Amino acid sequence: MTEEELNWEVIVVGGGPAGMTAAIYAARYGLKTLLLESAVLGGAQATSPAIENYPGFLFITGIELASKMKEQVKKTGAKIREITEVKKITNEDGCFILETRRGDYRSRALIFATGGGHRHLNVPGESEFTGRGVSFCATCDGPLFREKKVLVIGGGNTAAVEAVYLSELTDSTTLIHRRDELRAEKAMQDMVFSSEVDIKWSHTVKEFKGDDLLREVVVEDLKTGETETIVVDGAFVALGSSPNSKLAINLGIETNKNKEIIVQANQTTNIPGFFAAGDVVESMKQIAVAVGQGAIAADSAYIFVRELQRTDPRGYGG
Ligand code: NAP
Repeated sequence: MTEEELNWEVIVVGGGPAGMTAAIYAARYGLKTLLLESAVLGGAQATSPAIENYPGFLFITGIELASKMKEQVKKTGAKIREITEVKKITNEDGCFILETRRGDYRSRALIFATGGGHRHLNVPGESEFTGRGVSFCATCDGPLFREKKVLVIGGGNTAAVEAVYLSELTDSTTLIHRRDELRAEKAMQDMVFSSEVDIKWSHTVKEFKGDDLLREVVVEDLKTGETETIVVDGAFVALGSSPNSKLAINLGIETNKNKEIIVQANQTTNIPGFFAAGDVVESMKQIAVAVGQGAIAADSAYIFVRELQRTDPRGYGG
């Protein structure tokens, strides 16, 4: 790797809405900006079949919104490295060193926007049948279940939007929720109640069963304790996400009990130069919020880097 590729003023880790916004703002501020993404740019938003609460768009699919954001990042001149997972972050003498399969990158400021991973049910058969009937993404796998019978598990916004989307494709979509009311916001609940989605209240999944493919899901009625086996073609686990904060925790970044990063109003953390934004931080999980936090993180990184360069003659990169 050349010196030019090695040293950055700011590195953004994670290419969801928070990370892409941070990269757009940082590059437009004139910072030498690198955006690292372990998969492809998009983040969790890219898996949403319908987004109706992001201002400026009455309706847009997650994949469309993600691709518009990506186009905008490219235009700013920020360098993008996809399929580049950060394996370890260390802080040496005021410089962050990020280990990847391409080699180590160094930066003076770091914006951590790694989002969250799918929350699992952790019941027998879940991992065995993942990709063989059990799915964590209706947008990605929904079309495989056209005119079939599916279950959606969860009661939040993700479960609601995925259940409505699937009910339009499948012969039968049943939402399984462990309580007798949804957590999803009122507008999404109204969509579910006026759709073809059947709801099984106060039920929980005990096991996924099948042969090569998922065939049955065993559920328990939490009010009576009775179990029932439902014959299905697919099951979508839609339980929200848990933060991808491990790399940050290993570096000594403070989190709450849910392992979400604790940030101040300007997206600073307990380590100077380390900023965090989006679903990985302790805040409301919404695209509009992630985008706002990404912009603030870039602004804070800009102030931090310029101040450092004024007082530290090494410039960036150490
Ligand atoms: P969420 O709001 O945290 O809801 C998770 C759901 O899964 C809850 O209903 C929860 O049940 C259930 N659950 C969790 N663990 C479970 C378990 N082990 N067994 C059974 N059920 C379990 O997650 P989300 O729906 O993904 O939403 C996350 C955030 O993203 C929210 O802030 C949401 O607003 C946002 N989001 C927005 C949109 C949109 O605006 N278009 C779309 C998707 C998500 P309980 O209710 O009983 O706790």
